[in-house]
Amino acid sequence: MSATQKPASTSTTPSHPAPAVATQAFLARPHRLFIGGQWVDALAGKSIDVFDPATGGKIASVAAGEAADIDAAVAAARAAFTGPWAKFTAAERGKLLWKLAELIERDAPLLVELEVLDNGQPLAVAQHVVNRIAPDFFRYYAGWPTKIEGATVPAAPQGRRPGEVLSFTLREPIGVVGAITPWNAPLPMLMVKLAPVLATGCTLVLKPAEHTPLTALRVAQLCAEAGVPDGVVNVVTGYGESAGAALAAHPGVDKIAFTGSTDVGRMIVKAAAGNLKKVSLELGGKSPVIVFPDAVLEQVIPGAARACFFLQGQNCMAGTRLYVHEQVHDEVVAGVAAIARGMRIGHGLDPASQFGPLISAEQRERVRGFVAAGTREGGELVCGGNAPARSGWFFEPTIFTRMHAGMTPVKSEIFGPVLCVQSFGDDDLERVASEANDTIYGLSGSVWTRDIGRALQMVRRIDSGQVSVNMHAALDPAMPFGGNKQSGWGREFGKEGLEPYLKTKGVSVAW
Ligand code: NAP
Ligand code: MG
Repeated sequence: MSATQKPASTSTTPSHPAPAVATQAFLARPHRLFIGGQWVDALAGKSIDVFDPATGGKIASVAAGEAADIDAAVAAARAAFTGPWAKFTAAERGKLLWKLAELIERDAPLLVELEVLDNGQPLAVAQHVVNRIAPDFFRYYAGWPTKIEGATVPAAPQGRRPGEVLSFTLREPIGVVGAITPWNAPLPMLMVKLAPVLATGCTLVLKPAEHTPLTALRVAQLCAEAGVPDGVVNVVTGYGESAGAALAAHPGVDKIAFTGSTDVGRMIVKAAAGNLKKVSLELGGKSPVIVFPDAVLEQVIPGAARACFFLQGQNCMAGTRLYVHEQVHDEVVAGVAAIARGMRIGHGLDPASQFGPLISAEQRERVRGFVAAGTREGGELVCGGNAPARSGWFFEPTIFTRMHAGMTPVKSEIFGPVLCVQSFGDDDLERVASEANDTIYGLSGSVWTRDIGRALQMVRRIDSGQVSVNMHAALDPAMPFGGNKQSGWGREFGKEGLEPYLKTKGVSVAW
């Protein structure tokens, strides 16, 4: 897909701070595949250009792995699974996870700049991810290997009496995991697969997004440095249609952990049917933000702006449907619009930038199409709606009011900075909840009110994997995260996040 990407043709390229010398050196080196602990060329010798979405300029080139490279990576992962990795104790796996957290902190300056250049996100976002979110996540999972336990079972198989049989369960790693990740938050997306893989004793073949492969390559190197045995972590950069599809269909893969769009999620399920490999899916969203008239508007207004515009709306949990009680509608809209208009759009390496570009020219055209549909279908454009006249794939934070269920931008996951506002006229919880649930998705949502009883009633009614009150998208390593309905299968994060990587063996011993 990125073969069709062209640098944006529009006018100016405002200057921005240059990346550090070490980052420039990393970008300039050849980026090969990481298979069996070695950096190897893609067998077909093809490559993928990697762009900085804030300039449209090429920043690196990575190997384009295909089916044959996936075969090699799966073989390496299988050999490691049955080989030295199986001899690691739980405590040793925990230590590796802890060490990885330390190495990420050590390499933070490089990882931050790679994440900014590859994905376009503002510096402060990347700094928070690299310095806080990722180390906290690996340290959280560092505590789990020593606590993964089976149970003794009071079974009496085949007429045996107590004392004649011992029945228990073993929790075993599921095996070789294929992970396929999206571009919107490259490091967090790989971290949520890698940590449970290492915690449970599985092995990994990771196919990062074609648009954002760089931090995955660096983290693979850090895994080796931490002492993760060869073949436990393999990274095959490549296109979804070739490398990704080959991984999803591979008979040697025991489980696919996929994060991405609902449409590709469906393809993954079909591809996995060949060997009935296990599948976990983290898919799209269209999350509601519901504001009651008693809410603290000084919190609601920045909260709603952030819920929608964080990562330029390229966020699966983005609160893109804002339901505001009519009493406070105008004030909330004016406040959110003032924030949207005031956001400093710019290159992520400029510390003053608050709002980055979209990932690609193609993505920007998609967003433009949704904005056109919103206008055509009767939405009132309050702010934004255009691409600023500068190079890079930027699009302004955009707000529509007078929206209603059934309009294209309300129904579709835009994955861009477009907020659809609807008002409601009374405190009818059922009606607001049913509108909030009128979507194929069920990932996230938030309720804003001072009335805790009303908040908890809404929490029960909203059909999504997580709901926050007086905040949006509250994430924590310990809190299970995932989607209902067509937003996914299974949960990541927390203790539940280990489950998709484990299988249970029932054992009965007679004597
Ligand atoms: P995408 O197009 O579905 O791609 C996701 C990954 O799948 C990429 O690595 C992609 O490779 C690969 N892929 C594409 N076609 C494939 C195929 N036929 N077989 C196997 N793999 C294939 O999604 P995206 O545009 O990168 O990311 C945006 C989507 O991710 C949104 O829908 C968003 O909501 C979702 N998301 C969900 C969560 C969550 O936790 N629920 C988190 C973040 C994002 P290429 O890079 O080569 O296309
Ligand atoms: Mg793609």
